[in-house]
Amino acid sequence: MPASHDVVVIGGGGAGLRAAIAIAETDPRLNVAIISKVYPMRSHTVSAEGGAAAVAGADDSLDEHSYDTVSGGDWLCDQDAVEAFVQEAPRELLRLEHWGCPWSRQADGRIAVRAFGGMKKMRTWFAADKTGFHLLHTLFQTALSYRDIVRYDEWFVSTLLVDDGKVHGVVAIELATGRVETITAKAVVMSTGGCGRVYPFTTNANIKTGDGMALAYRAGAPLKDMEFVQYHPTGLPFTGILITEAARAEGGRLLNKDGYRYLQDYDLGKPEPVPVMRSMELGPRDRLSQAFVHELDKGRTTLTPHGPVVHLDLRHLGAELIDSKLPFVRELCLKYQNIDPVTELIPVRPVVHYMMGGIHTDIHGATGLDGLYAAGEVACVSINGANRLGSNSLPELLVFGARAGRAAAEYAAAATGTGPGAAVVAQARDEHRRLERLVAHHAEGRERIADIRTAMQDTMESGAGIYRDRDSLAKAAETLPHLRERYGRAAVGDHSRTFNTNLIALLELGCMLDVSMSIVHSALSREESRGAHQRTDFPARDDERYLAHSLIHHEPDGTGRVEYLPVTVTRWAPGKRVYGRQ
Ligand SMILES: Cc1cc2nc3c(=O)[nH]c(=O)nc-3n(C[C@H](O)[C@H](O)[C@H](O)COP(=O)(O)OP(=O)(O)OC[C@H]3O[C@@H](n4cnc5c(N)ncnc54)[C@H](O)[C@@H]3O)c2cc1C
Repeated sequence: MPASHDVVVIGGGGAGLRAAIAIAETDPRLNVAIISKVYPMRSHTVSAEGGAAAVAGADDSLDEHSYDTVSGGDWLCDQDAVEAFVQEAPRELLRLEHWGCPWSRQADGRIAVRAFGGMKKMRTWFAADKTGFHLLHTLFQTALSYRDIVRYDEWFVSTLLVDDGKVHGVVAIELATGRVETITAKAVVMSTGGCGRVYPFTTNANIKTGDGMALAYRAGAPLKDMEFVQYHPTGLPFTGILITEAARAEGGRLLNKDGYRYLQDYDLGKPEPVPVMRSMELGPRDRLSQAFVHELDKGRTTLTPHGPVVHLDLRHLGAELIDSKLPFVRELCLKYQNIDPVTELIPVRPVVHYMMGGIHTDIHGATGLDGLYAAGEVACVSINGANRLGSNSLPELLVFGARAGRAAAEYAAAATGTGPGAAVVAQARDEHRRLERLVAHHAEGRERIADIRTAMQDTMESGAGIYRDRDSLAKAAETLPHLRERYGRAAVGDHSRTFNTNLIALLELGCMLDVSMSIVHSALSREESRGAHQRTDFPARDDERYLAHSLIHHEPDGTGRVEYLPVTVTRWAPGKRVYGRQ
């Protein structure tokens, strides 16, 4: 007998836990399960440092947060979603406070806020520079208080069960034993996070392999705006470890090899004197990452054994401020780079950080499949448009995790019928057989999984990096099918059932190859430059043709069919993005 729940949430990160709590709150009679391939507290949300944006002070307004988000996203955001988001974000952050989140405070006890890139007012709440840890911990312990939430920790979901456009559950592998289980549900919430690992140099944890995007895509749900890949301007060379934008929000400066604050040459404002949120170092991430490439082209970066870098200078901030506001930055620099930012410059370079695209949803998290909801980085609502503003993702997890949870709960509570039919049972049986035979099938393989993965990552970086054009993208589109062929001959050397990480790496690589194809095909199709999608052969934004979301549908041959969906504009007609002193 398969395990059965009313709602299954896939993912124990910020979005998944928030969704599970919302389901339990909406209808306590519902039986909820969370399936996560890692223990929930190890989800990538834990590593968020800088903070979560929500209007807090009397000098700020919901309209200003909306406008910054819409213009930061180069007018590709759906404005109804943005308005709902900015309205609900303060309530969600306050709720988190009531659940125990230790937000940093001002001396008089009010919530402290900091500046963040592209936000023209200070509205980023933070818990020192360990915001994600505290946020996830708060959600996890709150979820624990709902005794009816069942957890499948360290279970890997390998497929969605879908019949006639409707989701009926999943098949998953228990990592500790290799046991394969069918888990049926009336509704499924996908909250599996992003896919930075399709690129070679990323701030993303190893587990961010786009599984949920690939599973939904294969099952018939289209992916939206996949061409928009965010590079964060300040990663440590070699490891890709993130130096949070909070370091620049506290006054950090970016210097080229001549010690010059080069951002003043890129329409992002002047060096001095400006309030910190108008400083050029707090321009949006797409612009700052693009400026790095121009500095590189001009020979104004420093070459290190791990590639070219510029430097982040925090020295003028002093030990006291760094230790109180940026303790984790100092710790990371000391541990992983062997430098002390109190006295030394930090070498940094752009690094893949976040996917603006994901599973297409409406503002309630509903996808193209009945009963399937999505929230968090795996989803594209879209509030992030062509470029996400830093600190908008954490509140997005809360606002849309809660919305998706409520919608899934209502759907499950209203669901009638006798449960999965013969087609679903057959699908589950086929997946069991496939998984049972997978290790044997790949036992004779000759190709190393790591080699195929590296080739895929290099293909994506050279084909669909910060700047792309038709030739680079076409080359990537040609290479990826060859990698897919090699994937069929990949070797799985570990034949055991217990924690077979080799097998999981194989399944994850399969997901990443599908996601890569969707990025490349969506990028090929969009013949304009907007936000994080910069085509050197189409350098201008083209609102006539492309004020629209791309929707890519999976084709049986592995390619994708792209169509466009108009952007929802409620109040802000497309304009020019202006930063710096205004
Ligand atoms: C280093 C870093 C710093 C960041 N800092 C900030 C910040 O300061 N502010 C901000 O707003 N944003 C920040 N972000 C972005 C933000 O943290 C993420 O977008 C967000 O945390 C994603 O949350 P999520 O719940 O969608 O997914 P995740 O937290 O990534 O969780 C995904 C979950 O899905 C599960 N899962 C995945 N695949 C499977 C599968 N096949 N089967 C079962 N389970 C599966 C995983 O086990 C995990 O529990 C940062 C990101 C990084 C990488």
